[in-house]
Amino acid sequence: MARRALDRWLAGRMGWTADTPPSPGQVREWQLDRLRALVAHARENSPFYARTLSGVDVASIRTAEDFSRLPTVSADDLRREPEQFLCVSQDEIERVVTLQSSGTTGHPKRIFHTADDMEATADFFDWGMRNMVGPGQAVLVLMPGDRPGGVGRLLDDALGRFGARAACHGVMEDARAAVDQFLVEDASCIVGPPAHVNLMACEWERRRLPRDMVRSVLLCWDAVPDAVAANAERIFGCRAFRHWGMIETGLGGAVECMPGSGLHLREADLYLEIVDPRTGRLVSDGEPGEMVVSTPLRRGMPLLRYRTGDAGRILPVRCRCGSPLRLLDPHVRRMADGVDIGAGRIRLEDLNEVLYALPGLGDFAARVAGGTLYVFARGRVGRERIETALMSLPVVGQGLADGVLRIAVETSNDAVPAVPGLGKRRIEIDREL
Ligand SMILES: [Zn+2]
Repeated sequence: MARRALDRWLAGRMGWTADTPPSPGQVREWQLDRLRALVAHARENSPFYARTLSGVDVASIRTAEDFSRLPTVSADDLRREPEQFLCVSQDEIERVVTLQSSGTTGHPKRIFHTADDMEATADFFDWGMRNMVGPGQAVLVLMPGDRPGGVGRLLDDALGRFGARAACHGVMEDARAAVDQFLVEDASCIVGPPAHVNLMACEWERRRLPRDMVRSVLLCWDAVPDAVAANAERIFGCRAFRHWGMIETGLGGAVECMPGSGLHLREADLYLEIVDPRTGRLVSDGEPGEMVVSTPLRRGMPLLRYRTGDAGRILPVRCRCGSPLRLLDPHVRRMADGVDIGAGRIRLEDLNEVLYALPGLGDFAARVAGGTLYVFARGRVGRERIETALMSLPVVGQGLADGVLRIAVETSNDAVPAVPGLGKRRIEIDREL
């Protein structure tokens, strides 16, 4: 089932008509062919690429190495002049997403989507979700469903294609209301950010609800801590699937299949390179580096070698399901994650693993100010246990011993997210104090 779903999606997008699925090598050849066409299209139609790709001989791009020598696009490029990336008229743009994020220009990123782009994302959601839910089942979605072309609507559209449906909860503000809606809707799957699903799992456990009602969970939108996936599997008694994606590339990026040896990349719509961030050179499969993405089939606002600022790696194995789609290691993180305290670097991904592993801890926020690490935790967990967990991290233990760090922990026994909204979580850093 898993293999058929993702392989059928891939064949559809590639226009692959043979009875057997394409081999990984054939997928790579097809990608390079589309990317060559995309370079020509982008250079002809977008002012930005007309400048950056002017001297490129398209016919000479024969291998992944050749492609990796093309110039990259930075996040600041997208902030500075997003319209310059457009290859179609504004009339063909169906949806514009504005991303407020830090950067050197002070401008937000703006991402333009055509109707084809949104259809491609719904198509990927459709086949990806078939691993997790079946016809007649409902999915509780902890993301906004009110905007046309937004993630909740696309998911609802995708689920409807095989007879399932989305029960859109919106961005979670209180896990008690989310659990209530799950029960009222008689849902069988939860899709949402790890922090919010973890709060739901804690609430589920507090009410002593049974383990056979949630049949699957999809953790998405933000980095997925192993501890949260483990909590969801233990408390709900089901598989927790992991997803990676970016708004810049149209949300869906990679998703786990049922055997789950890694996240299958959405290779028809996304070509991923892993490069050494210092030299820009491709690294071998299995090696970590910066993730650089291109969009082989996108015509409106194509991305050619966009530097994501995320660190990740391609797993050097094929999935047990047999799919030709490459596998992304689920542990994707921001390269700028963390704060240096003299004794080393405090990283959110490390805090995530030791804190979400504490039974009863629903969510937390972390801030570093004036040599103090502040942790605000939600849930039924004592302050001492949080402090002990923090001190188990070598950087925290060393910082305390060296006298360069203090820790301050506050707890509150409720089911409300520690960070409001749907932003990506990070350690807040206050240099002024
Ligand atoms: Zn697989």
